[in-house]
Amino acid sequence: MVEIKTPEQIAKMRAAGLVVAAIHEATRAAAVPGATTKDLDDVARKVLAEHGAKSNFLGYGGFPATICTSRNEVVVHGIPSEDVVLEDGDIISIDCGAIIEGWHGDAAYTAFVGSGHAPELVELSRVTEESMWAGLAAMKQGNRLVDISKAVESYIRRQPRPATGKYGIIEDYGGHGIGSQMHMDPHVLNYVERRRGRGPKLVPGMCLAIEPMVSLGTPRTNVLEDDWTVVTTDGTWSSHWEHSIALTEQGPLVLTARDGGKAKLAEYGITTAPDPLA
Ligand code: MG
Ligand code: MG
Repeated sequence: MVEIKTPEQIAKMRAAGLVVAAIHEATRAAAVPGATTKDLDDVARKVLAEHGAKSNFLGYGGFPATICTSRNEVVVHGIPSEDVVLEDGDIISIDCGAIIEGWHGDAAYTAFVGSGHAPELVELSRVTEESMWAGLAAMKQGNRLVDISKAVESYIRRQPRPATGKYGIIEDYGGHGIGSQMHMDPHVLNYVERRRGRGPKLVPGMCLAIEPMVSLGTPRTNVLEDDWTVVTTDGTWSSHWEHSIALTEQGPLVLTARDGGKAKLAEYGITTAPDPLA
């Protein structure tokens, strides 16, 4: 069963999404050489408190922080630590969420620490982010869930291959329904798997988190001994981007993007729904 939201509930998810956007802005400014990933978590805690929002990460399955900080070969679920000091040349994905009046937001981005990154890393992040937007653009009436997976995968496969051989679309993790909980049905694959079928029809009131994870090598991952940190099995670096999106009667609204996704979805000829909080 996929949870269908009322417009009033989507407005609350928009409020949560804007807190997530604020955390992204604040942590992006703080992700500089010399900062620790614990520093970034402190920044996120402060933003949550300023907005009167609760963290949906802190305590989730025992997770000890308000954000995931996943550096270089870490794909997702990295735990902030005062022992992890960011270095010039690192790439780090920061994933976080917020709860407002019981309704959830969830989004992630990849940041470049310092400058002078190899072109293949810049391209890796661009391809991952753009594949997310291709998936978000597929969130429309008439489509089914598989159309999102197909859009993400086909965007990545259309790009020139990296010097390392091929992009690895991470298979062990994916997007999800979101609303009264952070992780809900349906699971959103970042590739098409025929035996899963086409999935449910996309209808107004559905909200999904769409989150491709892409490596410069393998699609496979391992979990480290802390039971959280997910790394690529071949040590290649990876990128992760995520937004939460609502489908409404007036079109899609990217809940965790400041502009509701207006600018990027316009590139696909899509008009976003009016922002209920504007
Ligand atoms: Mg997330
Ligand atoms: Mg998520």
